[in-house]
Amino acid sequence: MAKITCTKCGIPKTRKEFYSNKRTRSGLRSECKECSKGMTRDYRNGKKQKTVLDVLKEIRDLLKEMKNANVVNFVHRSGFDK
Ligand SMILES: [Zn+2]
Repeated sequence: MAKITCTKCGIPKTRKEFYSNKRTRSGLRSECKECSKGMTRDYRNGKKQKTVLDVLKEIRDLLKEMKNANVVNFVHRSGFDK
C-alpha cells in the first residue's frame, strides 16, 4: 500500500492514519491523525484568544475562591480595604 507523507511531521503513513477530507484531491487531509489531534490540543491549550467573557468568568471564580477561603472577610475585618 502506498504511503502518504504527513505535511506536519513528515512521517510516511498509510491512508488509514489520515482523516478524510473531501475537499482535497487525494480525499485525505494533508496531516495525519496524530498531528490533527495535536493541533486540536494546542488550540485548547490557549492558542485560542481569551474573550472578555472568559476573563470575567475567571475573576468571578477567583472571587468565589477568595470568599470560600474567608480572605474577603479577613480583609474587611482587619480594615485593609479602607
Ligand atoms: Zn503527522
